[in-house]
Amino acid sequence: MVNDVLLKAVEDELESRSWRLRFAEEVETRFEADTQQERSHNMVMAGLVSATIYCLFLINDYSFRPDAFAMALFLRAGVMLPVGLLILWRVYRGVSPPLRETLMASTVLFATVISCLIFVNSIAPYSYLDVFSFGLILLVGNIVYSLRFNYAVVSSAISIVIILVFVLPYEAMPPEVKRLAIFTIMATGFFTLAANYRLERSERAAYLHVLREKIRSGYYLQDNQELSRLSVTDPLTNLANRRQFDAIMPVRWKEAMEKNTCLGLMVIDIDNFKAYNDYYGHQAGDQCLCRVAASLQATSRDADLVVRFGGEEFVVLMANASPEAIQPAAERIRCSVEALQIPNHGVSNQGIVTISVGIAVQSPTVGASPAELLSQADAALYEAKRKGRNRIWGISLPDLPNGDDAVDGLSRSAQ
Ligand code: GH3
Ligand code: MG
Ligand code: MG
Repeated sequence: MVNDVLLKAVEDELESRSWRLRFAEEVETRFEADTQQERSHNMVMAGLVSATIYCLFLINDYSFRPDAFAMALFLRAGVMLPVGLLILWRVYRGVSPPLRETLMASTVLFATVISCLIFVNSIAPYSYLDVFSFGLILLVGNIVYSLRFNYAVVSSAISIVIILVFVLPYEAMPPEVKRLAIFTIMATGFFTLAANYRLERSERAAYLHVLREKIRSGYYLQDNQELSRLSVTDPLTNLANRRQFDAIMPVRWKEAMEKNTCLGLMVIDIDNFKAYNDYYGHQAGDQCLCRVAASLQATSRDADLVVRFGGEEFVVLMANASPEAIQPAAERIRCSVEALQIPNHGVSNQGIVTISVGIAVQSPTVGASPAELLSQADAALYEAKRKGRNRIWGISLPDLPNGDDAVDGLSRSAQ
């Protein structure tokens, strides 16, 4: 359903040939989420390369304007480089999309100011030729970083104003050269912005096509599947929850009926758990539940469904379970919890955490129901508790195959 809405929004975007770059809110959010990390990393790489080249311009400074070299060295390597690296680090660590664009655009403005400062502080004869390289700064922002178009426009406009402020009053530069330089910078700004617009437009169009195919092929269903998995899992113990049991039980029942096999059910309850909680506290109680749950899971077959039924009660649903096999299986589970030797001083000084297990096994028939099997196992559990706890108990079942009554009145305890 969610995917249908998204698909419709994507198709609307593909159909509308608007000059606007930004997508409608829902698609824009998905676009940012899907591209953010790669974009940030690409920008940081581009920033590192640009910072290196920016510092290499010191070679120019050294040969063209030795009078301002010390200052250039300080401003490029001592100010621009550390500030730039700090910004790149911040972007690399992850920031919101607007902050990412703002930070990257700020490096463009910062580089413009620094370059202009170096420029006006030299009166060496060819120093003014450096103005022609300022267009490179615009090129970095608009093409190499590929800032989002609106950020590219604003940062280019501000950069050009900064350049004008510094270059126009600079007297060592002939007016014709100034005119040519300013014209060149403006043209560079214009062409790189046009290229920036086209780049962003094709990036977005390509994204829409890929997104449409992903939605159609069910790629985003994975998110839903993860949600579904969580909704049928008990968050404390990671076992299946009651909801999963309710969904799977009828399926297993039907399978057993079709194959004429038996379905086994154990209802397991931790003994004296209230006393444990009262003595050790609720948090320790939760840890105890997790350890018991892990033990139940580890002792069961992969094919069995181990469920936290609620509170300190668990259920193990065994497909294809012979009445002879379920008794030792239940005994193994009981022993595994006993073997944990978790003290339960809430009961007595020697007390440990144990479980009682009620067993029912049945070959499903048309008249019977899964609820019946569950209530039989429940009744058996009640009996196990009544007989003294830490034991397994099975109630006699009328329609066991071959009249087998292997679990009838069964009781095992560790006393
Ligand atoms: P019995 O041997 O008869 O089963 O006694 P019991 O104390 O285990 O049974 P009772 O039903 O009286 O108490 C169950 C206790 O389980 C009560 C409650 O504090 C505890 N409990 C239920 N769910 C949780 C849980 O999620 N975490 C914790 N820590 N305790 C729980
Ligand atoms: Mg209990
Ligand atoms: Mg209970």
